[in-house]
Amino acid sequence: MSAAFSHDVVVVGAGLAGLNAATRLEAEGVDVLVLEAQARVGGRIHSMRRLGRNAEAGGTYIGAGYKRVIATAARHGIRLIDVTRALEFFREQDLVLGTEIIRQAEWPDHPANPFPEGDRALMPWSYRRVLPMRENPLGSPDEWLDPKHAYLDISMRDWMRGLGLSDAAIDIAYSRNSTFGADAADVSALLLLFRAAFSRAQRALAPKGTLGYTAANGVESIPAAMAESLRRAVRLESPVVAIDSGKGAAVVHCADASRIRARRVVFAAPFGVLRNIRIDPPLAGLQAEAVDRLRSQAITQVYLRPKTPFWELDGYAPSLFTDSLPGMVAAARSGSDPSEITHLTAWLTGAHATGLDGLGEAEAGQRVIDAIAAIRPAARGQLEFIGLHSWSGDPWAAGAWAWFGPGEVTRYAPVMGSPHERIHFCGEHLALASRGMEAAMESGERASIEILAQL
Ligand SMILES: Cc1cc2nc3c(=O)[nH]c(=O)nc-3n(C[C@H](O)[C@H](O)[C@H](O)COP(=O)(O)OP(=O)(O)OC[C@H]3O[C@@H](n4cnc5c(N)ncnc54)[C@H](O)[C@@H]3O)c2cc1C
Repeated sequence: MSAAFSHDVVVVGAGLAGLNAATRLEAEGVDVLVLEAQARVGGRIHSMRRLGRNAEAGGTYIGAGYKRVIATAARHGIRLIDVTRALEFFREQDLVLGTEIIRQAEWPDHPANPFPEGDRALMPWSYRRVLPMRENPLGSPDEWLDPKHAYLDISMRDWMRGLGLSDAAIDIAYSRNSTFGADAADVSALLLLFRAAFSRAQRALAPKGTLGYTAANGVESIPAAMAESLRRAVRLESPVVAIDSGKGAAVVHCADASRIRARRVVFAAPFGVLRNIRIDPPLAGLQAEAVDRLRSQAITQVYLRPKTPFWELDGYAPSLFTDSLPGMVAAARSGSDPSEITHLTAWLTGAHATGLDGLGEAEAGQRVIDAIAAIRPAARGQLEFIGLHSWSGDPWAAGAWAWFGPGEVTRYAPVMGSPHERIHFCGEHLALASRGMEAAMESGERASIEILAQL
């Protein structure tokens, strides 16, 4: 038996974007029902409470200028804590090339360092962030879509070549543990310049000396409180499989065969999920192409507990930036004392991440432990696998975050979030001026404004 309900608006997806759209619509007296596929709200914000208070699998750091996120946390009485000290510790990691561990102090004069004179002291993970900051022509983040910057919608590789970098320098600066694409040829420079302009704007808004915050009781407490404060409870475990956008109403079909009629629908999940949802009439033109083609980064986090502080034995930094399977092995400091290492998180990206997707968790964890021990003998027998989250293997996320290839920013970004009949779209991939959690909030706000103009 299928039940038919009627609401002004149905929101598909209870991540920050969908919840912000729902909150803002409700505040204007609109009757909203939020449908969520999973048994929890928050989507790509996921506090792994079983691993420790702030062991986050998704969105963690709240920039000091995330106005919407910070205001929402304040409205719900959620305490934010300054994570500047913990973030500063992230700079203390050594570089691994092959099986060689290179201390930061050794890097400027190391024979494998291909960076130009003047930049040789920068570690690869810093260099790829410093360049788009230093060489950034965007006056403000929202300028990335200004046609005058379209010439920057070229590959990061070509942009870096234009700065005079050698292919060896580009490779080592960009293609190890890249968080957008696998290497610099994959990704649009315009996306990374937008991201850098957003970071710069965040710094300008931050109180002096503050890098950012996190939520004292786990970031998931923010979407949880947003959902809790809605008049109508979020309907959990209700995956949407199809949306008909007819003349009189939109009809949302759930996997349990229930159908819900609404005047408008907000689709607030990633394109990788939208791809598998039947939309009638179908999306067309560049919007359909963008939904099909926009890629999302494969990231898997593997959580490990050190049985002993083995880094004191070999004298290398507790965190390693490797060029092999374990990716970035970061010493996490999620307790109340930032000098205390609570666990290690191995961040695997791209093929290293997807390569583990077919394995059982314990086997995947063991492979990462073995790979760390091969690099660092002091870690042998000292690491215990405690958990894993694969974002590419998560059917409701289909990756960690969206990224644009060369040419795709100008081709897709201006049109891919346009309303389609009675369906409006939001999600971090559709923000025009923000990144990360703030992007999700921004896009949900925009969708609510679009709908209020129509109702
Ligand atoms: C590993 C990682 C680290 C990150 N770190 C940071 C950080 O430090 N700082 C920062 O600002 N940002 C960070 N982010 C990004 C940030 O978490 C996201 O940008 C933001 O949470 C995305 O919110 P969203 O609402 O757009 O999408 P989502 O959170 O993905 O919400 C979409 C929702 O839709 C649901 N859904 C999907 N399909 C269906 C369906 N068919 N029917 C019903 N519901 C469905 C999903 O279950 C989900 O709840 C990180 C993300 C990841 C993955």
